[in-house]
Amino acid sequence: MSEKRVYTFGNGQAEGRADMRNLLGGKGANLAEMNLIGVPVPPGFTITTDVCNEYFEKGKDDVVALLKVDVEKSIHHIEKLMNSTFGDPENPLLVSVRSGARASMPGMMDTILNLGLNDEVVKGLAKKTGNERFAYDSYRRFVQMYGDVVLGMKPVNKDDIDPFEAIIQKVKSLRGIVLDNEMNVEELKQLVVLFKNAIKEQTGSVFPENPVDQLWGAICAVFDSWMNERAILYRKMEGIPQEWGTAVSVMAMVFGNMGDTSATGVCFSRDAATGENRFNGEYLINAQGEDVVAGIRTPQQITKEGSLRWAKQQGISEEIRAAKFPSMEEAMPELYQQLNALQDKLEKHYHDMQDMEFTVQEGKLWFLQTRNGKRTGTAMVKIAMDLLHEGLIDEKTAIQRCEPNKLDELLHPVFDKEALKEAKVLTRGLPASPGAACGQIVFFADDASKWHEDGHQVVMVRIETSPEDLAGMSAAEGILTARGGMTSHAAVVARGMGKCCVSGAGAINIDYKARTVEIDGTVLHEGDYLSLNGSTGEVYAGQVKTKEAEVSGDFAELMALCDKYTRMVVRTNADTPHDAEVAKRFGAVGIGLCRTEHMFFDKDKIKPMREMILADTKEGRETALAKLLPLQKKDFVGILKCMDGQPVNIRLLDPPLHEFVPHDIKGQKVMAEEMGKSLAEIQQRVAALQEVNPMLGLRGCRLGITYPEITTMQTKAILGAAIELKRQGYHPMPEIMVPLVGTYKELKQQQAVIRAAAKELFAEEGMEVDFKLGTMIEIPRAALTADEIAKYADYFSFGTNDLTQMTFGYSRDDVARFLPTYLDEKVIEVDPFQVLDQTGVGQLVEMGVKKGRSTKPTLKCGICGEHGGEPSSVKFCHRVGLDYVSCSPFRVPIARLAAAQAAVEK
Ligand code: ADP
Ligand code: MG
Ligand code: MG
Repeated sequence: MSEKRVYTFGNGQAEGRADMRNLLGGKGANLAEMNLIGVPVPPGFTITTDVCNEYFEKGKDDVVALLKVDVEKSIHHIEKLMNSTFGDPENPLLVSVRSGARASMPGMMDTILNLGLNDEVVKGLAKKTGNERFAYDSYRRFVQMYGDVVLGMKPVNKDDIDPFEAIIQKVKSLRGIVLDNEMNVEELKQLVVLFKNAIKEQTGSVFPENPVDQLWGAICAVFDSWMNERAILYRKMEGIPQEWGTAVSVMAMVFGNMGDTSATGVCFSRDAATGENRFNGEYLINAQGEDVVAGIRTPQQITKEGSLRWAKQQGISEEIRAAKFPSMEEAMPELYQQLNALQDKLEKHYHDMQDMEFTVQEGKLWFLQTRNGKRTGTAMVKIAMDLLHEGLIDEKTAIQRCEPNKLDELLHPVFDKEALKEAKVLTRGLPASPGAACGQIVFFADDASKWHEDGHQVVMVRIETSPEDLAGMSAAEGILTARGGMTSHAAVVARGMGKCCVSGAGAINIDYKARTVEIDGTVLHEGDYLSLNGSTGEVYAGQVKTKEAEVSGDFAELMALCDKYTRMVVRTNADTPHDAEVAKRFGAVGIGLCRTEHMFFDKDKIKPMREMILADTKEGRETALAKLLPLQKKDFVGILKCMDGQPVNIRLLDPPLHEFVPHDIKGQKVMAEEMGKSLAEIQQRVAALQEVNPMLGLRGCRLGITYPEITTMQTKAILGAAIELKRQGYHPMPEIMVPLVGTYKELKQQQAVIRAAAKELFAEEGMEVDFKLGTMIEIPRAALTADEIAKYADYFSFGTNDLTQMTFGYSRDDVARFLPTYLDEKVIEVDPFQVLDQTGVGQLVEMGVKKGRSTKPTLKCGICGEHGGEPSSVKFCHRVGLDYVSCSPFRVPIARLAAAQAAVEK
């Protein structure tokens, strides 16, 4: 904790600097820095973020006492530079009191302008400036802001308009005027009185006339705004810790509302939406800061080019544009030149796109804020690459400038921004898989496929999805489920397919029988249109227009840069040649997890699969497996061919068998007929497969050990496919992975089965292929005994979905029941199925790698859980020495960027 609580700036000097943003907040640090580099900024001082924490610990009175001397001294500092005195009616100094956290939180906290005015001072200000209208306009704004921010004036009812706005409207309507700047002095004076009365009436507080009281009230209110609802929510969304606190900057006012040679505006050194190197922004003549953003008057464009563009969009003729809406470039050409030169200077100084606020007071330009501008994913990539080409940043910096998760926006279809503004939000679920989807509602997978074949776009709405819905999911534009979290089946599969999915939308009530879904009172039927925003979790009524996302050349260039610096490579989780193809396009260099079970849900494979499961004897099973073998082999040929020359890690059968058998009477009847058995027999067998806790039951390698013939069949299918391809001149690189191993003996036993099957096959074929044999580390015991297990494995793949499930003891499929509460109550900070729990589960990964390599130094290690595409988890994987991460195709670029960032960090 720093002893110094207050840092001054002004007149080209400052006690702070840009790199002190943790202490001074972004705004305070940059105000100091702008002083140091010769950008005109009104003088002022910043109270540190540490004081904010003190404020919440010790309370208001103590902190005011602690600050008193420093603040008084700093006010004198401003007075000297501004040649005026705080509270002096003859020659008053007015200040603004502004919030500013370490990370920018635009508009989330409070700011007060024109502080220092009262009934006496306002007269002095009018006299000094010779501008009575300006003086009273400033005064009424101040009373309004102070009433709102410090004294807590609020609309009485939730849907009332702001009480001050209501008064303004009343006053304006008496004379039939529309705009605020049409009010005359008398009306402005009247507003001040009416505002003060309204404050007294509603809050019981009297507006403080003493400027010193005003100042302390405002400083404390800005600290308090750190804890307002908006700010808390925004921090939660952006992952900003509460301990960071806000700084408070107090600075001399400059006035954009002193007449037609005054103005205020906001500008960007580049286009925040597209990234184009195009200075742009908006301004208003004779207005004060907030007016531009608050939308009270329509702001005008700063550049002429922007103004022409704007007029075209609005359908405004050039004649009218030039006369009524001239750009600043046209209306104030000299000031525009100064502004343009300074924005360029700031961008070059910060080496990044700047978002700036400025005010012109009677022909003199002042800067009031600069920060690195927020931007879209597309703009992020373009700006990083452009700055690199312009020589403003180096390659490593370009890599670090890009936020991995934001690449997502570049990969999925998106809603048209304009269309979204009109869209009606029905409800919200979890943003399980990003993108935009729009289609007609269907409730069943087979309907989804049918409707799709008939040329409809459909959205599949389910209570939850199971592997059987896969075909329907792939035919649908998007998936909406009532249950399930971010790693629910629907979510994982949808992300794998790059398909939009909103899961766990608890407010939807599905009636499968009636084929309706009720959302908050609205009943929708099969065939009605619905739109899903997989990036926000929002569900809209009707059709919202979408457009294909564009992948620009800059994006490819960024990826190439990543490859240059990364140590870990990125593979993909893919079960089909199509997914593998997509992932390859995004730069995957192998398959890190190919799940075989999805293959069995194909129409022609589910039958022999069920036959195998329902057979009571080994012979019965082998007959069925013999039918499956050529079908599986064909699948493996497809995927190994697609990934020719790159490793393909294939996992042996993993899920509990009951997932494959029909649970409805109709399906069971069909089954019985096909197998020549009675319905009762089938039902008995299905019942026998039921387990109390299937996730911990007969699955994974336990299947292969109980029924070795399954492992044998799968081994022969995999290696048979590889031999076939090798004969054709390909270079298949199969890896066979044994799932859910908890003791080395399990792996040892399966290894023997696999080797025997391979030997037999190689003899039959008269040809051999190389393959690797590995295991998944997904049971805590496996990580704990990794040194023993490694003796039987060429590689480890950390299955962090199951590992998280088993380490926490949270069922992945039921976690939605309590996770929201856990997150709200801060029992845990983030969903451990999304972000790898480095403290707990991470220890097991780290230990697994270390122990494994202690007995097998050549052991290759990778990760194949959902975490493989989550940036902070990817960086962790780099630090503990993994060789690769594997993730859904649509997260491959994100993982590549995160891996490169991990490699260039420090
Ligand atoms: P936010 O963080 O919400 O943008 P700010 O503290 O930046 O809030 O203030 C809001 C507006 O008030 C800005 O547009 C800024 O231009 C204006 N403003 C702040 N301080 C001053 C000042 N000293 N003189 C003139 N305008 C100011
Ligand atoms: Mg601002
Ligand atoms: Mg698993």
